[in-house]
Amino acid sequence: ALALGAVSYLWATPGVAPGFWDMFVLAFVERLFRTTYRKDDFVLGKKLGEGAFGVVYRVSLAKKPSSKKEGDLVLKKATEYGAVEIWMNERVRRACANSCADFLYGFLESSSKKGAEYWLIWRFEGEATLSDLMLSKDFPYNVEAMILGEVQDLPKGLERENRIVQTIMRQLLFALDGLHSTGIVHRDIKPQNIIFSEGSRTFKIIDLGAAADLRVGINYIPKEFLLDPRYTAPEQYIMSTQTPSAPSAPVAAALSPVLWQMNLPDRFDIYSTGLIFLQMAFPALRSDSNLIQFNRQLKRCQNDVVAWRKTVEPRASPDLRRGFEMLDLDEGIGWELLTSMVRYKARQRTSAKAALAHPYFDREGLLVLSFMQ
Ligand code: ADP
Ligand code: MG
Repeated sequence: ALALGAVSYLWATPGVAPGFWDMFVLAFVERLFRTTYRKDDFVLGKKLGEGAFGVVYRVSLAKKPSSKKEGDLVLKKATEYGAVEIWMNERVRRACANSCADFLYGFLESSSKKGAEYWLIWRFEGEATLSDLMLSKDFPYNVEAMILGEVQDLPKGLERENRIVQTIMRQLLFALDGLHSTGIVHRDIKPQNIIFSEGSRTFKIIDLGAAADLRVGINYIPKEFLLDPRYTAPEQYIMSTQTPSAPSAPVAAALSPVLWQMNLPDRFDIYSTGLIFLQMAFPALRSDSNLIQFNRQLKRCQNDVVAWRKTVEPRASPDLRRGFEMLDLDEGIGWELLTSMVRYKARQRTSAKAALAHPYFDREGLLVLSFMQ
C-alpha cells in the first residue's frame, strides 16, 4: 500500500518525474482498472462542432452496463492531431483534473471508412460555452444565474456586473494556472473553448488539440499550425524561434524548467485571456468583426492598450464608456489587471498565478459569489 501510495503521489504531482510514470508504469496499471470504450458503445447525437482536425458529437451509450459511467458524453473524432490531444487530456486528468472537461477515454479507431481516426470521450459538461453566454443580451447576469442556481434580488448595475466578471475571470485563471503548473500551454484560449460545467457550476477549459506539453516536448513547435488570429498574442511562436527544434523526451524533461523560464510560453494564454476579459467588459467588442477591428486599432497604437484607450475614449460610444467605467471601479484595479495581461512583450505580462493574487480579486463584494467555488 505504501509503495502504491508513493507511486500515485509521484504520478499526480506536477513537477515530479514528468512523463515517466505516465508512459511506463501506471499507464499499464491503469489499463487493468479503468473503464474502456469502443466504437459500438456509442449512439451518435447532435453535432456540436466541426473544425479542420475533427468533428464533435454529443453521444449516449448504446447500453449501460453497470461498469460504464452513465449519462451524456461527448465524442470527438479527430485526425492525426488526435494522438496529441489524447496525451494532453491524460496528463490533465492526472495532474489538474478540475481545469478541463472531464476526460474519460481515448483510442484509435481504425475500422472507419475514412481511415484511422482517434476517438476521444468526455463527459458532457453542459450546453453553453462562454461564447454562447457572452453573445446573450443578458450577459453577465445569465452567468450569475448559472453559477448561483437562482437569480439574486440585488440591484442590477455596474458593481454587480463587475463582480460576476471577476468571478468568471477568477475561474478562468484558476483553470489556466492548473494547466500551466502542469507544464501545458493551451494556445487556443477563446470563449468557444471554455465550457460552463453544469455539474460543478464553474467554467472549464476544453479543446487541447493545439496544446503543447513543454515538460516532455510533446507538440513542442509544430511546423504547420493554425492559430486563431482573433485571440493570438503578438508573438507567433510560444517559444523563441532560436530554441532548437524539439529535443527528445528525456532531454526536454530535463531542460524544460529552464526553457520555460527563458521563454515564458504560458504568457501566450494570458494574452488571449486578457482579450476575453476585454470582451466581457465591452459588449461592443464581443462580435468577431469588432474584435478584429480592435486588434487592428491596437496594432496601430504599437500594441499598447493604454495608448488605445487614449485614442478611443474621447469619442467613445456610451457602451464603450461604460466598459471603462467598470474597469475603473475601485481605483482602476480592473483596468490595471487588464493592461498587465495584454502587454506586447510576453516577459512583461503577468502569469496566471500572479493574476490570481492581484488585488482585483480581493474586493469584499466578491463574497456574494465566491462561496460557490
Ligand atoms: P473543435 O476542435 O471542433 O473546436 P472542441 O473540443 O472545441 O472541438 O469542441 C467543439 C464544441 O463541442 C465546443 O465548442 C463545445 O460547444 C462542445 N463541447 C466540447 N467538449 C464538450 C464537453 N465536454 N461538454 C459539452 N460540450 C462540449
Ligand atoms: Mg474548439
